[in-house]
Amino acid sequence: MTTEWNEVLERLLSLQQLDSKISRLEADLQRAPGDLKSREAAVAAVDAKIKTLADRTKVLRAQILLRENELKSHTAKISKLKTQASEVRTNKEFVAFRSEIANSQGDVDRLEGEVLKILEVVEQADKKVAELEGERAHELEMVEKAKAEIHERLADQRAELEGLRKERPTRLEGVPKETLELYQRAHKARGGRAMSALEGAYCSACGEMQTRNDVYAVQNRTRHVLCKACNRLLYQP
Ligand SMILES: [Zn+2]
Repeated sequence: MTTEWNEVLERLLSLQQLDSKISRLEADLQRAPGDLKSREAAVAAVDAKIKTLADRTKVLRAQILLRENELKSHTAKISKLKTQASEVRTNKEFVAFRSEIANSQGDVDRLEGEVLKILEVVEQADKKVAELEGERAHELEMVEKAKAEIHERLADQRAELEGLRKERPTRLEGVPKETLELYQRAHKARGGRAMSALEGAYCSACGEMQTRNDVYAVQNRTRHVLCKACNRLLYQP
């Protein structure tokens, strides 16, 4: 009985080793698309920033256009007033025209000042957009690079996983059916880790203290022992 369990345990440990590799690969394979998603999200974030700025400059450009139209009508008015002023007869009429011209000129100055200020803001926004375009191009490049890397890695990992899965049945040979059932149950419940090393009197996976009899049995490899808390098969490393 002693040698028999000892032999089974060796097989189980080798099976556990294989299953750990399989679990790790499966986790990696699941994580891969997540990496890519976060890279793609970075591109989308830059896109959103660019759009906000572009929307804002669109409004500002419309405001400039409005003022330019207003400027045109004021300029036309001034030139008309100047023509009329040159034809007046009395000084009183001339003063009236001059005052009207001065008013219009004031509007022109104000509008020109406003246009300049808005233009400044638009220029700054355009500069920022150009910066963001550069950032976006960089992020896109990273996405493409990540894609290529991930595809290559995935292909390697899938091939490795396939090999390990093919190998698994050979590691089940010589393990009694009942023991295998215990193993598989813990394997399924504990995310691929069906066995746990004993540390002193404690299960290293969950920290549960084991009875003195069980500790003795694990240390001497006399029979299989399940952790009372997590149901993993215990072994003495
Ligand atoms: Zn445990």
